[in-house]
Amino acid sequence: MSDDDQELGITESKSHNTGEWYAEVVRKAGLADYGPEGMSGFIVTRPRAYAIWERLQRFLDAKFKDTGVQNAYFPLFIPESYLEREKDIVEGFDPEVAWVTEAGTKELEERLAVRPTSESIITPYISQWVRSHRDLPLRVNQWCSVVRWEATETKPFFRTKEFLWQEGHTAHATAEDAWNETMTRLDQYESVYEDLLAIPVLKGQKPDHDKFPGADTTTTVEALMPDGKSVQAGTSHHLGQSFAEAFDITFADADENERLAHTTSWGLSWRALGALIMTHSDEQGLVLPPSVAPTQVVVVPIWQEDTKDDVLAYAEGVADDLEDAGIRVELDDRDERNPGFKFNEHELNGVPVRVEIGPYEVEDNELTLNHRPDGEEHVIDRDGVAETVRDHLDEVYAKLYTAAEETLDGEVRTANDRAEILGTLGQHGGYVEAPWCGDEACEEPIKEPMAAEIVMVPFEEDDPLVDDTGDDPDDDAGDDPTDDEATCAICGDDAERTAYFAKSY
Ligand SMILES: [Zn+2]
Repeated sequence: MSDDDQELGITESKSHNTGEWYAEVVRKAGLADYGPEGMSGFIVTRPRAYAIWERLQRFLDAKFKDTGVQNAYFPLFIPESYLEREKDIVEGFDPEVAWVTEAGTKELEERLAVRPTSESIITPYISQWVRSHRDLPLRVNQWCSVVRWEATETKPFFRTKEFLWQEGHTAHATAEDAWNETMTRLDQYESVYEDLLAIPVLKGQKPDHDKFPGADTTTTVEALMPDGKSVQAGTSHHLGQSFAEAFDITFADADENERLAHTTSWGLSWRALGALIMTHSDEQGLVLPPSVAPTQVVVVPIWQEDTKDDVLAYAEGVADDLEDAGIRVELDDRDERNPGFKFNEHELNGVPVRVEIGPYEVEDNELTLNHRPDGEEHVIDRDGVAETVRDHLDEVYAKLYTAAEETLDGEVRTANDRAEILGTLGQHGGYVEAPWCGDEACEEPIKEPMAAEIVMVPFEEDDPLVDDTGDDPDDDAGDDPTDDEATCAICGDDAERTAYFAKSY
């Protein structure tokens, strides 16, 4: 094995050593480097990863703009007095806030926080901008980075002190409008995962004891990682009126009565990149869905001296056709690398489809396609190449989504008492659904020995435990054995909701 081959090879096992394997893929596929010495917890995002982030940004930003959101930008620093106006926020983030206390040689009169999130600097401005009901709804979003000084081990894109994200902040006239806003953003986050990243997610809300500081309801999309842990993949908060009250967002309604607004905030971070890398990649390296892959197709010509001119001309023609059709294609005609090395390198870098062209392909007016996720090969006609390749890109996306969906379906199990919850989590990981009374104290007996927690509670309308005694004629009362008689898996009191227990990132 040459040094080059070693550099390209992934040595850690995805199933046995997921953490080390992940770190190796991130480094060898050229996605990120660790920050300078003395700055643990910071990473350098390399172009291949940043290109994926830009695609995600474009996808989500277009959805925001289609639904009434405008982008803005607020300062990186927040005066301490601003942060203190929302005491729940200060308490929630206290140990994680980085402070600026001096500038140059002068001590500042007031400490400045490096934003851990921007509610406390954006909301006062929303308060100034909202005067009448005609100013509502008001929606602003910013794409930026925030800093949370956590002292945990760095995991690129999952756990870093500074991370990229977007945070949206809105104000509304009614609670119902604010709730609809919260759900619109959650649905858009679900779409990022399911329609762009090929990752199915579970949608629901955080238990009350784990919601965003000061929020009425925190909603979440959760994604299952291959090591059986759940990732909080995006959150959307219905903030009720607590922020409007603290920052005085009032408006004159149609009858000139002064009313308090209802607000929301919602954020999705580059943790989505971590989930993407971890979900699909394998022991050959990075695997990407074509939707976000910087290069969707690589064309590798395979020649001998006497066939070189013909093969190269044919390969260039194919690459041109693909490019003209809007497919992101790279022609790898490097002289100094052999085809085997090129195959390995593009596999490591996660190019979804490889096109191989040798003298036989030229002769037969064909080309050979190879799907990155499973190595499946297809010989296709040269004619109509762009259309055929596009179908194969769709097929690769579908393969990745289906595989992730099958994994998720198999990793949701039910349990009805504490021993069963602990046993199931210990043996399999994944999600365990159990009836729950709603009391935080009933999370402790799972959290304490297992470091697993309630990551999600399905929305009431999706929760089989919620006794739906409405007038729905399709709802046969008493049909569901859990109705009326379900008891909390921990304390035995009446169960109100189904809780999803899991270990999480
Ligand atoms: Zn209980």
